[in-house]
Amino acid sequence: AKEGGKNSFRFYSEKLNTDSLERLSLESGLRNALENNEFRLFYQSKQDMATGRMTGIEALLRWQHPDLGLIPPMQFIPLAEENGLIIPIGRWVFKTACRQNLAWQAQGFPKLSMAVNISRRQFFDEDFLKDVGDALQESQMAPELLELEITESVLMHDMDRTIGILKELKQMGVRVAIDDFGTGYSSLSKLREFPLDTLKIDGSFIQNMIPHAEIKNLTTALIDLGRSLGFTVVAEGVESKEQADLLRTHSCDQFQGFYINKPMPPEEFTLNWTTG
Ligand code: C2E
Ligand code: CA
Ligand code: CA
Ligand code: CA
Repeated sequence: AKEGGKNSFRFYSEKLNTDSLERLSLESGLRNALENNEFRLFYQSKQDMATGRMTGIEALLRWQHPDLGLIPPMQFIPLAEENGLIIPIGRWVFKTACRQNLAWQAQGFPKLSMAVNISRRQFFDEDFLKDVGDALQESQMAPELLELEITESVLMHDMDRTIGILKELKQMGVRVAIDDFGTGYSSLSKLREFPLDTLKIDGSFIQNMIPHAEIKNLTTALIDLGRSLGFTVVAEGVESKEQADLLRTHSCDQFQGFYINKPMPPEEFTLNWTTG
């Protein structure tokens, strides 16, 4: 912006203004989205690798914006993290997910685990454990059926505090998964000190393991590592039969991805479940 003198500076600052205007309007929209009932949860299944049977469900957040349509989480969660709105939004997410899971049970579907994604700010919020407890109590869902997915970067942020929170969750009976595994900087030697249940290998590994032998080797090493530490190992982002077959050969426990289904609104998920 410096090189071109006045003109390019002007261009630069106008661009900046547009961006901050957009941000501002997104932010004010986000503030009202909860009370305007604009959030939706989509659901995607997880399958057992060996039998193909559904073992669990993950809830994924969407924002049904009145003008912009359906907005994916990556476009508003970072903003909600920054301004703290992720706390009430996150509270809504696990309440809604627990309720939905119980509604499916009441309709006679098999009891499955329900996974929700937890962001860093939420995990370290002082009311977090209370909020999780409240959602469980309110929905009357068995705690063992709730699985919280936290990313690898949260894990290593403040190890002592993290282990403390994880221990409390374990005491409540809630399960915890480490999400996007392989993309962060976990100290592998410290991994076993965390009371965790599940390790989810990031989709970027899965989608690159067929063309790249070294990624395939890395992926199978991650599976072995997870299993040797006693975790349930889940592969996310599985898009083809070829990928699923390879993962099965290497003893991955469960998988999730477009090969089986995309995240769906609850009505569609129910319909799919009924018709197989
Ligand atoms: P994630 O937890 O790693 O979720 C997996 C993402 O991959 C989802 O994107 C899902 O729709 C997509 N996906 C599933 N199967 C496949 C596949 O076979 N191929 C490909 N290419 N993609 C697949 P989505 O729904 O856009 O969510 C993106 C991220 O936003 C999530 O990544 C998660 O980190 C975050 N997120 C979603 N919902 C919530 C929430 O309620 N709270 C928080 N804090 N974060 C959330
Ligand atoms: Ca996840
Ligand atoms: Ca993930
Ligand atoms: Ca991912």
